[in-house]
Amino acid sequence: MNLAIRARLTFLYCAVLGLTFVAFFWICDLGFRHSIETTVNDSSRTNLETVRRLLANTASQGDESVRAELRDLSNLWANGALLEVADTKGTWLFRSPQFLRASPSLPQLAANDIAFFTTNLDSSQYRVALGLVEVAGERFQIHAAVPTEPFDQALDRFRIIEKEALPLLVLLASFLGYWLSGKSLQPVNRIIQTAEQIGAQNLSRRLEVPEPRDELRHLTETLNAMLARIEASFQRITQFTADASHDLRTPVAVIRTTAEIALRRSRPAEEYKDALSRILLTSVETSDLLENLLTLARADAGAAGLEMLPLDLNAHLRKVQEQGAVLAADKSLSITLRTPDVPVWVRGDEIAIHRLLLILIDNAVKYTPHGGHCEIALSQNQDHAHIAVKDTGIGIPESDLDCIFERFRRADRARSRETPGAGLGLAIARWITQMHGGTISAESTLGMGSVFHIRLPVSASA
Ligand code: ADP
Repeated sequence: MNLAIRARLTFLYCAVLGLTFVAFFWICDLGFRHSIETTVNDSSRTNLETVRRLLANTASQGDESVRAELRDLSNLWANGALLEVADTKGTWLFRSPQFLRASPSLPQLAANDIAFFTTNLDSSQYRVALGLVEVAGERFQIHAAVPTEPFDQALDRFRIIEKEALPLLVLLASFLGYWLSGKSLQPVNRIIQTAEQIGAQNLSRRLEVPEPRDELRHLTETLNAMLARIEASFQRITQFTADASHDLRTPVAVIRTTAEIALRRSRPAEEYKDALSRILLTSVETSDLLENLLTLARADAGAAGLEMLPLDLNAHLRKVQEQGAVLAADKSLSITLRTPDVPVWVRGDEIAIHRLLLILIDNAVKYTPHGGHCEIALSQNQDHAHIAVKDTGIGIPESDLDCIFERFRRADRARSRETPGAGLGLAIARWITQMHGGTISAESTLGMGSVFHIRLPVSASA
């Protein structure tokens, strides 16, 4: 059913209250009937007892005297109570006219006891106490009847009130339920209204937290925490876009200005060659930057599509070292590799791991002056493979060690200025390591060199 919560709550409230009222009235009815029965039983028993005392007092004075006393007693009872008394032989000593008209005769008692039953006498209902009493050696059969009509009328009146009150009470309950559920849903409506107004322009706005420490407060706080996370990601994306545009503008401007100056007048072939070489170099840097930006954008979108397969780091590092040696040749740097004698297996994407290692070796070469040294070391313990890329380069200030893994962060910009780069390499390296369930960290001494540590979980074997 597609009903609003408020309608559902009201319906539920009415149903529960309606059922409660029905159960309540049913119990009252039961109690009322029980109480009527007890009252009329008591009343007829008292009458029977009165007759017994009368017989005890007058039995010795003869039947006529007993009859007269019983008649007087019957006349004395103003509430419509009746009686009939028979002696041992079954001869009636007294019978109220209603008993006389009743047919058939009422049942007789065998033992010395009292029994109760309800019967119609002369078209009215009576509760009858039937007793067998022994007075001065003689046994008397007594029927003392009390009319139940006044009680039945009271019960009927009660039932009429019940029937009229029930729908009224349910109607009242539905109004009350509707009002109550509306009141308790008010904070939800406020949340909806505020949430509808929050957009990219005012992501810093938060939902009003309700005072009581209940589920709604918990919900609001959870939504506010979610908004804070969305705002942080939004700011990161905005910052990323701004930084990316800024870093792309410079090489594009260099290419454009170089071409414009070269074309301003005719020049010797050597000068055109110079200009084209600068344009080519800058274009290569720009396409590297674009490649890195694309990698990070794919990483953010969770669409990196890495193919995790068993990979022997030992064999792989040899290939990387060869490529590193080509990079290092220009600056007369030496690159050495230290690995164990056995294969070191991890589960990983070969292209991504290759890229990760090249980023570190490229940095080691970039930030190490001529004649320096770079060492790649691989080791393994029970559950981790450890790769350390160490150089004797310019080092990283301690204050920058934490932030160099952030996007567009370059340690000590003044010193990094001469070296090309946008500050994206280590951000990509960290992302690749995390995707492989590993960690990356750096230690460095300014002016002495740096070590980058990568730890990756090992897999059993190929
Ligand atoms: P990029 O090298 O393009 O600037 P990276 O993300 O690879 O970007 O590195 C971030 C910064 O960390 C670099 O700008 C540099 O300041 C510092 N850095 C990285 N590797 C080294 C290293 N081996 N020696 C000294 N500084 C380094």
